[in-house]
Amino acid sequence: MAAPGTPAPPAPVAPGGISGGGSRGPPDPLPEPKQLPELIRLKRDGGRLSEGDIRDFVRAVMDGTAQGAQIGAMLMAIRLQGMDLEETSALTQALAKSGQQLEWPEAWHPQLVDKHSTGGVGDKVSLVLAPALAACGCKVPMISGRGLGHTGGTLDKLESIPGFSVIQSPEQMQVLLEQVGCCIVGQSEKLVPADGILYAARDVTATVDSLPLVTASILSKKVVEGLSALVVDVKFGGAAVFPNQEQARELARALVGVGAGLGLRVAAALTAMDNPLGRNVGHTLEVEEALLCMDGAGPPDLRDLVTRLGGALLWLSGQTQAPAEGAARVAAALDDGSARGRFQQMLAAQGVEPGLARALCSGSPAQRRQLLPSAREQEELCAPADGTVELVRALPLALVLHELGAGRRRAGEPLRMGVGAELLVAVGQKLRRGTPWLRVHLDRPALSDPQRRALQGALVLSDRAPFAAPSPFAELVLPPSC
Ligand code: URA
Repeated sequence: MAAPGTPAPPAPVAPGGISGGGSRGPPDPLPEPKQLPELIRLKRDGGRLSEGDIRDFVRAVMDGTAQGAQIGAMLMAIRLQGMDLEETSALTQALAKSGQQLEWPEAWHPQLVDKHSTGGVGDKVSLVLAPALAACGCKVPMISGRGLGHTGGTLDKLESIPGFSVIQSPEQMQVLLEQVGCCIVGQSEKLVPADGILYAARDVTATVDSLPLVTASILSKKVVEGLSALVVDVKFGGAAVFPNQEQARELARALVGVGAGLGLRVAAALTAMDNPLGRNVGHTLEVEEALLCMDGAGPPDLRDLVTRLGGALLWLSGQTQAPAEGAARVAAALDDGSARGRFQQMLAAQGVEPGLARALCSGSPAQRRQLLPSAREQEELCAPADGTVELVRALPLALVLHELGAGRRRAGEPLRMGVGAELLVAVGQKLRRGTPWLRVHLDRPALSDPQRRALQGALVLSDRAPFAAPSPFAELVLPPSC
């Protein structure tokens, strides 16, 4: 006889297989779902959550039976103990199934592509790449995110444009893809709602930098999009969620591997995030710089990343023979104004008054600045010595801007859209002592002394000869099928 508490041995499988044998009595009852404290304890102590456990947790998040403290505790347990690939895949699926699966006409399949980033500073690539890919004939149903930790969010940047609505129903998304070729939307009650809840909770519980949570959060949104190919920009370096390149590579492999297991063709680009991407950081300032890139101008590092990621996607989805050919097509869409034209259409179709969308997309940089919300004050910082700009550390810059209102301390907190900073110098450039190198846009009279010190500490000068800044792109991790 079995000892008390020992489960009975499993019944032998009937000849004829597991799924047959309807006459062999009632099926075993489903195991009792575990209570949330038990699930949290299991993960806290390094155990493995079954697919059912993960589904039960996500269901409790969705139906409101999970308290905020329990969600935070589970996130922290996952952050500290990790998850294996099967758990990560189960979490991805449970999050994806919390809402609706998007379905598109069969004929669109090869053209359905998307890009996502693990989060950077000054990273406005999605704003440019979605319309550029649409101009290349793709369909881009981008479900994007808000600011997370010190990193900026595509949705927040777009919401700095008066009228822009990130909430679009699946039916509205289909119309956008038919008429424009792209849309950029957020989670909603219909789209991956469980990720929306966990995402906001991670932002305020120091659980952003978790490999399985990042993987499941990103892929859950992409699984519901029904894509042909996805490229994830996995950042590494001082201002990345995972500073270490080896860890970033591990995340890239998890994204590619879990994606492949779920039938999603994912490639991951490892790109450096030590300096801010481009010259502008902050919501409206980044929209301005994205428009500059769509004028065929703007900083070379931004253009480089947009064209490389777009090129990889066009190749991965079979629309070009090689990534370089794809990159050239994306570059052409930036130079001939067709990407900017799609952006204008997308703004108007997502709620921006058409006259404003037109003025923003056709105006000069100075005119554009008048059309977007701006901060009340500006303060310039000057170089403390002569030297060559070796590095502008993006992390202290982002942390100061976060403190000035560009980021959230509480879930759902409104942002100061005009707060940000313009780099007045480029990496590799020679600088004279006293030359202004940073213009901060702020809603208070002046920076505090600690903020000024932190920002001055972000500028790293050397006595090297001037040099051309290297591309942030480091390597591409490809799916097994490539
Ligand atoms: N983007 C997401 O959607 N989720 C993350 O966790 C990080 C970046």
